[in-house]
Formats: sequence, C-alpha cells, structure tokens
Amino acid sequence: MTSLASRLAEVDGSIADAARSAGRDASDITRIVVTKFHPASLVRDLHDLGVRDVAENRQQELTAKRAELGELDGMRWHFVGQLQSKKARAVRDAADVVHSLDRDKLVSALADPGAGALDVLVQVNLTDDPGRGGVAPAEAERLAERIEEADGLHLRGVMAVAPLGEEPAPAFERLARVAERIRAVAPDASWISAGMSQDFPDAIAFGATHLRIGTAITGPRPPQD
Ligand SMILES: *Cc1c(COP(=O)(O)O)cnc(C)c1O
Repeated sequence: MTSLASRLAEVDGSIADAARSAGRDASDITRIVVTKFHPASLVRDLHDLGVRDVAENRQQELTAKRAELGELDGMRWHFVGQLQSKKARAVRDAADVVHSLDRDKLVSALADPGAGALDVLVQVNLTDDPGRGGVAPAEAERLAERIEEADGLHLRGVMAVAPLGEEPAPAFERLARVAERIRAVAPDASWISAGMSQDFPDAIAFGATHLRIGTAITGPRPPQD
C-alpha cells in the first residue's frame, strides 16, 4: 500500500471507531479530503483510491485543478475557504458544495435563478473574534432564512472551524445547537461540517456529518505561494 492509501485507511478506521463510541453509524459521515496547496495529481491519486469528496479553499486553485483534471467520475468538489463576493460566480461554476456562506452579500452573489440548485452551508463563527470567517451564532437563523428565499441555492446545514487555543468539544456542542435552530427554519438542513485532522473524533461525538480532513491523509502541505 502506498503511504497515501495507508493514511487514508488509518483515518477511516479512526472515523469508524469514533462513530462507534458515539453510537453513530459511520455510513452517515462523509469524509472530505482537503487537497489545498497540493498538485492536481494528488486529487487523481485519491480518486483512484475511491475518494469522491475533495475540498479546496481558494477559488483560483479550485478552478485550475478542475480544468487540469477534466471530468473525474463521481467526484464532488467542496469549497471551504473565505469567499469574496467578486469570486462567487467562479466558485459557483467550479464547486458542487460551498461550505463558507457567511453573509447576506454572498447570498445574492451566489444566487442564480437560471441555474440548478447549489448546495450551501452557513459558516458559523465559534470564536469571539468578528474578524474570523463565519456568521455570529445569533445571526445564523436570519442568514438561513435569506438563503431559503434565494433562487438556485439549497441550504444543507452548517459549517465551522474549532477555535484555536480552546477545547474543541464545547465549541462543537455550540455548533450542534446552532444547527438545531437552523433546522427549525430549514428542515432539510441536516448537515454539520466540522472536524479536521486534529479534532474530528470530537466533531463526530457532537454530530458532525461531514469531516474536512487534510494533513492526516495528505501528509504535510507544500508551502503556500
Ligand atoms: C485546511 C482546512 C481544513 C483541513 O485542515 P487539516 O488540519 O489539514 O486537516 C479543514 N477545513 C478548512 C476550512 C481548511 O481550510
């Protein structure tokens, strides 16, 4: 087995263990591999290993990799980075799921009455720093209502990154409560995108349905340019 295949298998084993401890079915959990900064060839290698969900955090990199790889059978591309409204159109064209919808301006920038529905998640800021990505928990339902009213957007749930320098579990618990409130507005919005290489077992314990795992599977990222 290549090292990529063995890291993937090891992470999937840990996901299964965490699901079992939480009394959950691992088949209800989607493992997304974050491929940012790695060459497009890594995405092809992952596809060969059966991976069907990958994530990028920069529009130009996402667009370039999709162009380079062409159609990869069954692959879903997730966008998880901070999104500028001027790049929303290009992200809409290149992504199957956008995890980082966190303000009104992006609702109108991503909406498109002429297109099929784009899956989107409300990104929630779990820190006290308003400069971090995500809508404040108190504003999340209002944003969800805006998305429900918009054309061409399908609200699937919530996304968050655990705050640095804090235990992740209480933060994921707060996210689960926001997710519950959003489901009251949008019953279909059942996804919780949470958990990265360092904290995915805690995210699973608090109901994460979509994990965004990078380095634990890909190995260290090449330096950013
Ligand atoms: C890079 C990134 C990840 C993956 O982080 P790892 O620590 O490498 O697992 C997950 N979510 C977002 C939003 C990211 O930017």
